[in-house]
Amino acid sequence: MKAVKIKKVLQTGATNTSCSVQGWVRTFRANRFVALNDGSTLDNLQCVVDFEALDESLLKQITTGAALHLEGNLVESQGSGQNVELQVEKITLLGASDPEKYPIQPKKHSLEFLREKAHLRVRTATFSSVMRVRSALAFAVHEFFQEEGFFYVNTPIITGSDAEGAGEMFHVSTLDPKNPPLTETGDLDYKSDFFGKETNLTVSGQLEAEAYALGLGDVYTFGPTFRAENSNTTRHLAEFWMIEPEMAFYDLNDNMNLAEKFITSVLKKVLTRCEKDLQFLDDRFNQEEKSKPQLQRSPMGLLEKIKFVVDNDFKRVSYTEAYEILRNSKPNKKKKFQFPITEWGVDLQSEHERFLVEKHFNCPVILFDYPANIKAFYMRRNDDEKTVRAMDILFPGIGEIVGGSQREERLEVLEKRIEEMKIDKEELWWYLDLRRFGSVPHSGFGLGFERLVQFTTGMNNIRDVIPFPRTPQNASF
Ligand code: ATP
Ligand code: MN
Repeated sequence: MKAVKIKKVLQTGATNTSCSVQGWVRTFRANRFVALNDGSTLDNLQCVVDFEALDESLLKQITTGAALHLEGNLVESQGSGQNVELQVEKITLLGASDPEKYPIQPKKHSLEFLREKAHLRVRTATFSSVMRVRSALAFAVHEFFQEEGFFYVNTPIITGSDAEGAGEMFHVSTLDPKNPPLTETGDLDYKSDFFGKETNLTVSGQLEAEAYALGLGDVYTFGPTFRAENSNTTRHLAEFWMIEPEMAFYDLNDNMNLAEKFITSVLKKVLTRCEKDLQFLDDRFNQEEKSKPQLQRSPMGLLEKIKFVVDNDFKRVSYTEAYEILRNSKPNKKKKFQFPITEWGVDLQSEHERFLVEKHFNCPVILFDYPANIKAFYMRRNDDEKTVRAMDILFPGIGEIVGGSQREERLEVLEKRIEEMKIDKEELWWYLDLRRFGSVPHSGFGLGFERLVQFTTGMNNIRDVIPFPRTPQNASF
């Protein structure tokens, strides 16, 4: 008999008809009750076996972690805790699992322990919930942009330009590391490398997305991004997924409006589509918070936080206003900031962003019009000559979730900026062409997908919201 997904079985309810399911044993109690999970939903299906009818050797192999195919009758449950149960008539062992060696026991494991078992951690309630929410978010992202008339474009993963300026890059090469060809001056001779030039893994698809926006109108990318930054934080991965919309004829205000609508729209969708998983993660979040000292606890529960973001406007504040707030803030005056705010133009550190979002405004904040000196070359210069049309969206508990800007569409201004920042202009010839042939105002932003998953699931560490995290000194699996 063809097996049905447990999610469907639980939705359909007791039918008193035969039914078959397959999945992995979460627990086996009293030689009688198998809690079976197939990943389709958080809930297990209670399956009742008649152990007297089973042969001894099969009984022994029903252990936590084993894979079974079960056939039987779906009936109203006798016990409490579930509405239906499967009265098992036939058991097929699909894959045995040595109970002595299977690391995922039916007890609470630490997230650190589970990170070392990344190939098996998805068999826990927490990780399967996180991954289902992650999948629903990804779908909602595509849905949002498609409904708004955007086109999905795939920008290159191997890039020939090192001018993206968003961070340290991973080199891509087929040269023999033991015996690399050298030029006369002793440098690596990239001419004999695969592409005949130096290449890297992309840190952002933005520049290429701009080219496509200036032809297709509104586009977005959603793909892997790589940064060889040695920042061992709970918010940085060496390989992460980024969503980068880029829109022709958008100014910075249009850009901020879109970003806010985008985030609230995908959150709204998962609130209704992932109710069960989010409820579970909310409970988990509340328990974690309870174990923290009072002062460090989140003032809101997970679901509360998500609903708050959906229901409330993001606060829009210019860098200059934020600078004044920070300069006059208590922690600054009491020298509590590790990086004191002393003069206009300094880059904001995570402690400052957190102060603004979590203490001062208590809501998501969009900071805009940053000093030109701390932002990338392609951001549109304001008439004050000091600031650029940049915007960052800051989220409680996460910090920066979006970075974006209106792009500089004026050829002379852009060229001047590239020279000032000592960037290789030759490399950017095609990017400058976009300002030569039908240049228009345009804008875009990048949202780190894992940071969105972090916010939505309440997971504290970014390593726990991607299946197999890549971080400094860690590329196992
Ligand atoms: P941060 O200051 O947090 O390092 P950034 O200024 O380097 O961020 P951008 O270059 O603007 O970030 O990238 C756009 C978005 O990509 C960020 O807002 C963030 O959500 C995400 N992001 C950036 N770096 C990482 C990373 N190493 N791991 C996961 N997400 C990242
Ligand atoms: Mn960074």
